[in-house]
Amino acid sequence: MKRGELKRWAKYILWCAVELELRDWSLTIASGPCIEEDAIAQVKPVYGRKLATITLAPGFEYRTREEQRQTIAHELIHLHWHGAREVMRVDVCQQMSQAVYDVADSAYVRAMEYGVDALADAIAKHLPLPDCAPRSTEGGH
Ligand SMILES: [Zn+2]
Repeated sequence: MKRGELKRWAKYILWCAVELELRDWSLTIASGPCIEEDAIAQVKPVYGRKLATITLAPGFEYRTREEQRQTIAHELIHLHWHGAREVMRVDVCQQMSQAVYDVADSAYVRAMEYGVDALADAIAKHLPLPDCAPRSTEGGH
């Protein structure tokens, strides 16, 4: 993704973050590969801080605008659940064996993803569609 496109995405995402009551978070928007191969974006919060990086995977800009909007909403909603995720990841894990923790954490993450995605579906339609994608019909002469 070109730098100018990333800047436009950052503007849109930061605007959405305000709309989703995440004013107390400091966000960095980046482009690059995501940890999960099939993810088109990811959010990575910093432990103990309200700082996070949202990374847009290669090809994000070519997804449909509806999918882009839903994905941005999804990643932002994760930030509202960050505290609960840290309870599981940091606090609860100290009371379990690694094997039990692995099962519990996997189940927790799966349930959280279902909830986050359902909320993203419900909320995204109230956000404007992004107008950040490169225009494939530019020029023409
Ligand atoms: Zn997710």
